[in-house]
Amino acid sequence: MASNSGGAGHRVVLFPFPYQGHLNPMLRLAAALHARGLAITVVHAEHHAPDPADHPADYRFVPLPADVPAGLLSSEDVARLLTELDAILAVPFGDRLVALLAEQDAGGICCVIADVQWYSALAAARKLGVPTLGLMTSSAASFRTFMAYPTLIDKGYLPVQEGHKDDPVHELPPFRVRDLQRIDKSILAEFASQLERIVAEARRSCGLILNTFDAIEAADVDKIRQDLSIPVFAIGPLNALSPSVRSSLPQDRGCLNWLDTQEPGSVLYVSFGSLVPIDADEFTELAWGLANSKRPFIWVVRRGLVRGFESGELPDGLEEEIRDRGRIVHWAPQEEVLAHPAICAFVTHNGWNSTVEAISGGVPMICRPLVGDQLGTARYVCNAWRVGMEVEVETQLEWGKLQLAIDKLMADNDEGKEVRERMKYLTNMAGKGVSEGGSSHTSFVNLVEFILSFTC
Ligand code: UDP
Repeated sequence: MASNSGGAGHRVVLFPFPYQGHLNPMLRLAAALHARGLAITVVHAEHHAPDPADHPADYRFVPLPADVPAGLLSSEDVARLLTELDAILAVPFGDRLVALLAEQDAGGICCVIADVQWYSALAAARKLGVPTLGLMTSSAASFRTFMAYPTLIDKGYLPVQEGHKDDPVHELPPFRVRDLQRIDKSILAEFASQLERIVAEARRSCGLILNTFDAIEAADVDKIRQDLSIPVFAIGPLNALSPSVRSSLPQDRGCLNWLDTQEPGSVLYVSFGSLVPIDADEFTELAWGLANSKRPFIWVVRRGLVRGFESGELPDGLEEEIRDRGRIVHWAPQEEVLAHPAICAFVTHNGWNSTVEAISGGVPMICRPLVGDQLGTARYVCNAWRVGMEVEVETQLEWGKLQLAIDKLMADNDEGKEVRERMKYLTNMAGKGVSEGGSSHTSFVNLVEFILSFTC
């Protein structure tokens, strides 16, 4: 989309959080800024390091050696993961930034863009006098939840009480209590102060970048703008705004050839993202649901998807039936899969990237959110935007419920048609938003000008 102009001599240092759902949008932002002529330095953790071979030769990659305890990176204790990673990486980040600033030939560093989760690194850059911007890689609604978290606890919404799960959260419509990002009671206070620190540092930054767009979250973006009183740039969906970025993980590209052999609008795509594990029972029910749907499918069964197992073994008797009709892959070229005309629906955990990629690809969703912000995103998908249908969330997945949701979505009745029509509308709006004159495009142009206004 972009023209290469205006950024000569301006270098942006980007610091992504080391998980796929955070790396992808940051690298897409890097590609969009690079296409505008800005020089790119990516400072990164050694874990999930991006592969320089996948990016333009003039990017500079700076690994941060750090002593990360074994087990921390796979920990399901999110509060601990956030606090400890932030604490471990902030000092090496600050040291590297000092070294980069001291280099004569690095090109002028005009700002640091870090994932908002790296609040200590953002603080370190700010203290060195470098302008900072935070990138929120999830939704605007999720950032509003961060901002409201102490209030949600004070007002008794959290921890979630049985019997109150369907109460509306008046401060954050359209959420009900069950849609809020929850955490074990024992670490709720720690998690809340973590979020307070993230929001406080975002407030002290020069600006906040959001991977969202007006047609889906204009009201949430406005509220953030009013509350933070710093420039807020809603430039999403980043996958549509930026030139394409190659994944550093080995993808099964053969599934694209297989998709070419399938009928248009016939194949289910099933993926639960890069991070969150599911129970063995859920895995089995999912497998039966796919088998009984009698539809072709592509199912991402990555290493570690099934809690306690290195790789997912299909239940007895299912292997033959499933393998004949579908493709099981370790990692898919997801954006290309979602853009393929053979795909009819996406069974998803509603990670934010997957959700906006589904909107860009025009693929209605069958939502099975698992944790965190996925619950709230599914609420938007099914009830605010009405581009998906939910499989009952609070209970153990049953194959029959999954099959029901698939049948409802694909049915030739008003309900199914409405969802598919709404998705076409949103896909169109997402495309308009990133085109010349659209809201995300304009916001991105403003962001580039803002960055160029910093003295290097
Ligand atoms: N992804 C992919 N191939 C896969 C599964 C996921 O490329 O087989 C990508 C997907 O396109 C998205 C990211 O991994 O950009 C997952 O991010 P998301 O926010 O959806 O979920 P998370 O992994 O953070 O739970």
